[in-house]
Amino acid sequence: MIRWWLGTLMALSTKDHPRERSGWTYVYSVLSRRTGGVSVGINLHPNKACNWRCVYCQVPGLQLGVGPAIDLGLLERELEAELERSSGANSPGVTEGPTLRVGDIAFSGDGEPTNSPDFAAAVEVGLSVRARRGLEQAVPLVLITNGSLVDRPKVRPALERLGGHGGRVWFKLDAVSEAAVGRMNSTRQAPERVQARLLEASRACPTWIQTMLLAFDGPSMDERERERYCEFLHQSLSGGAQLRGVHLYGLARQSHQPEAPQLRALPSEELHAFARQIHRHTGLEVQVHP
Ligand code: SF4
Repeated sequence: MIRWWLGTLMALSTKDHPRERSGWTYVYSVLSRRTGGVSVGINLHPNKACNWRCVYCQVPGLQLGVGPAIDLGLLERELEAELERSSGANSPGVTEGPTLRVGDIAFSGDGEPTNSPDFAAAVEVGLSVRARRGLEQAVPLVLITNGSLVDRPKVRPALERLGGHGGRVWFKLDAVSEAAVGRMNSTRQAPERVQARLLEASRACPTWIQTMLLAFDGPSMDERERERYCEFLHQSLSGGAQLRGVHLYGLARQSHQPEAPQLRALPSEELHAFARQIHRHTGLEVQVHP
């Protein structure tokens, strides 16, 4: 089984994240730039519905909406089976290399995870399957979120459960001003509300910022917007946000949105220069993934 699973993963790359290759409804594995290894993903939106529409979104057929009710029994069986497949790669005797070890179990997929009616119940499934397999210490649960719903009464307790069990949050921040956010994420978000939600998320779980920097009729953040971004993070830290760092991404995967032909990756040096700027202003560690 482990040989088949490794073969499937070797056919993938960090530039290729199709959920369909797993053959399952909710669970899939990808090679992840973020973890530097395998991320076992939980997709609560097989209907490809999200409350945002980011110009770089790699979900084909993305639609505006919420996730469907989740078959929690099926989710549990799929997660068990995927971790069983990978169990050889995480055992001490296997030498295929660190990139094939499971780095995390991530709520991610084809829509905003917290926009699922069963997000909290799915977190419980993740916690209990991981515990049954004895992976509490080795494999953290991660929520990859656009952050827009983390202050909802149904979401907050689930974040606290994650935080209480070593979970982490990756909070999307591609820009700060309403205009720049509108262009990148097709949503209206007042910076003060985003800051309040960031504070809330980071109180519940160790939180990393995830930011995409690309060219789209010019850089997605111009000089002024980059200053705003640094100031926003600085203020968030001063206001008590417990931030662990920033993951700064370049465009590596194919967008499936209408803007795709206009998007370009920025030179790696530009990402590194922005990373240095962020670090100077905030003291945060910045990891660059061109
Ligand atoms: S938040 Fe994620 S799933 Fe939703 S549109 Fe943006 S990139 Fe796609």
